[in-house]
Amino acid sequence: MDTALTGGANVLSQSGRLVVKIGSALLVRERDGRVRRDWLGALGEDIARLRRRGLEVIVVSSGAIAVGCRHLGLDIRTLRLEEKQAAAATGQIRLAHAWQEMMARHGMTVSQILLSPDDTERRRRHLNARATISTLLSLGALPVINENDTVATAEIRFGDNDRLSARVAQMVSADTLLLLSDVDGLYDRDPKGDPSARHIPHVARITPQIEAMAGSVGSEVASGGMVTKLAAARIATGAGCRMIIASGEVMGPLGAVERGARCTCFAPSGTPRGARKNWIASALGPAGTLTIDDGAAAALRRGRSLLPAGVTRIEGQFERGDLVTVTDTGGSELARGLAAYDSRDAALICRRKSGEIESILGYRGRDEMIHRDDLVLTS
Ligand code: GLU
Repeated sequence: MDTALTGGANVLSQSGRLVVKIGSALLVRERDGRVRRDWLGALGEDIARLRRRGLEVIVVSSGAIAVGCRHLGLDIRTLRLEEKQAAAATGQIRLAHAWQEMMARHGMTVSQILLSPDDTERRRRHLNARATISTLLSLGALPVINENDTVATAEIRFGDNDRLSARVAQMVSADTLLLLSDVDGLYDRDPKGDPSARHIPHVARITPQIEAMAGSVGSEVASGGMVTKLAAARIATGAGCRMIIASGEVMGPLGAVERGARCTCFAPSGTPRGARKNWIASALGPAGTLTIDDGAAAALRRGRSLLPAGVTRIEGQFERGDLVTVTDTGGSELARGLAAYDSRDAALICRRKSGEIESILGYRGRDEMIHRDDLVLTS
């Protein structure tokens, strides 16, 4: 069988954590700026089915600006920045409501998360966003994410949800990112201009030749072109996450991919776990040191998290999410990781049981000083 017909199908059944990005053009009717409820309903069914099979699904949904324009009587083609933000503020609430309504049919709760670039770039906020999304997934909810367009400015915004979805995939260690688009993948030439363009089912590595196929940045008129999709592919695959571009123009596009619809699959380099460990290991200089006892050192070697009880000394000044070094009692480095507490609070709770954290600090923080996902053994 043609690999183009099997790629997507295999990939979805192998996935554990899937991010699905949905573009405005699919979700919102161009003619009148209304949400395409029948299409969303079919997608909702797809999502509920995957979820019942145990797959964790996260949605990155565009469409706020398009929906908001209709309600404010704005023309989407001529928006100034403040009008775009006003449209996003107006449309987002309706968009979220449409999602909630559709998923309620399947007994699923929808939770809205609006992200700014800072939330994925800066470690402290990144840890919070990651933890929130993981918690929602473990509670069975469907996180629906968009950019926080109402306060984004031209300089700081992701600018397109292709890139945002790749950052989200990286942040939550997803193994698959599916971009639903108006094209069914990458072609060696623009298929709209040239019917003899050849479809590329599989991209093992993003080479200059592949980049040339997507066209130049200058040729891109709107967000969401192939150039931004390749930028997303670079982020996702570098984070150990495979990325698929598939057509969203059918009813029930996830089911269509599973049944073998044509798509392009970008192979990941490594695994999400490995990529996250590299990301931590390559973080800039540690801001502090935690000395741990032998019991904790043995637990780390068994792949466990570092609990406050095993930490005997805190040095340096660090914030939550900063990189710290973990050493044994003799001062040899054992690991590096992202601290779940700042240095002041860490000093207060070291040597103490996790159950005592709340009475010491006055708030219920994490049970771990460094969660195992945020820790890399270095010796
Ligand atoms: N965040 C924008 C919206 O919801 C869309 C950005 C994009 O489509 O890439 O309207």
